[in-house]
Amino acid sequence: MRQDFKISYSRISTYLFCPYKYKLIYFDGFHMPVNADITFGHIIHKTLEKFHRNKEQTYEVLSECYDNAWKNDGFDDPQQIFEYYERGRQMLLNYYKSFSSLNTEVLYVEKAFDANIGKYKFMGIIDRIDKCSDGKYEIIDYKTHAKVWNQEKIDQDLQLSFYVYACKNVFGFNLDKISIYFLSENKKIYTRRSKNEISCAINLAIETAENIEIENFGPDISKCKICSFKLKCGYSS
Ligand code: SF4
Repeated sequence: MRQDFKISYSRISTYLFCPYKYKLIYFDGFHMPVNADITFGHIIHKTLEKFHRNKEQTYEVLSECYDNAWKNDGFDDPQQIFEYYERGRQMLLNYYKSFSSLNTEVLYVEKAFDANIGKYKFMGIIDRIDKCSDGKYEIIDYKTHAKVWNQEKIDQDLQLSFYVYACKNVFGFNLDKISIYFLSENKKIYTRRSKNEISCAINLAIETAENIEIENFGPDISKCKICSFKLKCGYSS
């Protein structure tokens, strides 16, 4: 086991998808193929980070942050670049209109944390933490894909459970509001987490870390058809 071993949501999610995929990425150095959605997600996250770190928060500043963050990696052709760029512009315009009407204090953006989970270190980055006008704390996770999830999927989102745990145990916040912000639709959907749900998520993280530690990397060939490594992996038929 490597000395710098840390668990994270993306590592857990990769392992749960297929343990062998985890090995390919984190042990053998395979890179996830970049595509338009991945690049676009990074651009929007970077844009909002720069915007909220800026003292002046006008639409012009937001627009400039977007242009500075833009990159063309992973898009199929100029037409696709144009379509995504325009979609991003509309998304950010809607975001700006909603944000400028709020009376909220943005406490943190892209806030990194290291939490202790059992004997393991868990690392993560939270998109945004606000202190609302009523004094309540809110954690916000941005999503940039086109489809809005249903309430059940949001209620079961593992990543949010880890972030709620981190807010309480690392930053000392008792969160009052937990939300996913679907930027494509400019729609925020709220959820809750019970103590039991957080504890189940933490147990799953520990169990996954234990499996990684003993290098239990058996392939899950039921996932090959939808795996991004299906053309490179020896187990894919
Ligand atoms: S192709 Fe199949 S076995 Fe190989 S990493 Fe992907 S899901 Fe796992």
